[in-house]
Amino acid sequence: MHYEECPVCNTEMKEYTETIDWMGPIAEHYATCPNKCYSYEYAYGYTTVQITIRGHNLMFGWSYSDDKKTLKAETDAIDAVLEAARHAQAEDSIIQDADQAQRPQESR
Ligand SMILES: [Zn+2]
Repeated sequence: MHYEECPVCNTEMKEYTETIDWMGPIAEHYATCPNKCYSYEYAYGYTTVQITIRGHNLMFGWSYSDDKKTLKAETDAIDAVLEAARHAQAEDSIIQDADQAQRPQESR
């Protein structure tokens, strides 16, 4: 079994696949980042991708019957959001490090 990495933070994602014989080779497939920044879900011909940037949840999706133009618009948007999410995480970790350096005594 292969594993997938979170496209935002590169952590190995938790995956779940269920095969239902009459639905085809893969009927349901879920992958969730343990840090909750990305999740992917495929079920009953419909794909849902959720990306979280600083607590804001963005959701994308398409169905197997959508045309290629719709699919490309969604995947292009996902690429842009993933890039923004990676930048946001990198910035936040720099800010957090600076915070901790300035206030070493403070406990959260
Ligand atoms: Zn992640």
